[in-house]
Amino acid sequence: MISNPYVAIDGPAGAGKSTVARTLANKLGFIYIDTGAMYRAVTLMALREGVDLTDQAGLTRLAQSVSVVLMPDGNGGLKVLLNGDDVSEDIRSQEVSKNVSLVAMVPGVRKRLVELQRAMASRGGVVMEGRDIGTVVLPDAPVKIFLTASSVERAKRRREELAAKGNLIDQEQMEKEILRRDQIDSTRAADPLVQAADAVAIDSTSYSVKEVVDMIMALVTAEEKRP
Ligand code: C5P
Repeated sequence: MISNPYVAIDGPAGAGKSTVARTLANKLGFIYIDTGAMYRAVTLMALREGVDLTDQAGLTRLAQSVSVVLMPDGNGGLKVLLNGDDVSEDIRSQEVSKNVSLVAMVPGVRKRLVELQRAMASRGGVVMEGRDIGTVVLPDAPVKIFLTASSVERAKRRREELAAKGNLIDQEQMEKEILRRDQIDSTRAADPLVQAADAVAIDSTSYSVKEVVDMIMALVTAEEKRP
């Protein structure tokens, strides 16, 4: 019996969290929540409004005033609405990817987005992915995964995703970018990226999405069978 039907998936950039979380949510009939998309949406807004990314008070005000809504897109994925506009594509730009970790460092931004994330999860039945889900957002989640992969593999996966959209990026540049993002995410003072003490670590470097999903399904099933 799972009393809190949550699956929390954390890990560094490009480890495959989104694909795994989305597939798992569809299998379980749970809602999929991509919290990185929310930090990206606030970053996009800050860039559009010309807010200085070192101005913590300005970024906090912005995060408190914007509306960020995640909705199913009808294909098992998510649509991201920023103040009512669909920004699902725009939040994946290189400009946003390069700057998102700076916005996500700000405690006031995190406080506001964590509140929204908890509200979204309050009815249960969610697979939520991010950096601090098992440690901060849903510490009571009965199934917590820390998903990693080698940096070479992570850069390769990100490049392939972007190339599919016609955006060609050099492997070395991609590796540099994700390592820089990991470094900021795991050393920041507020809610850093760390493995929760009770999370199961999965290194997905040499596994397919299906294999990783099957491993997590086995953990969910074992949890459901617990008295
Ligand atoms: O998952 P994704 O790579 O889209 O996340 C973008 C960025 O958002 C991360 O690099 C991190 O800075 C931030 N993030 C976070 N906490 C989360 C999810 C994402 O700080 N729960």
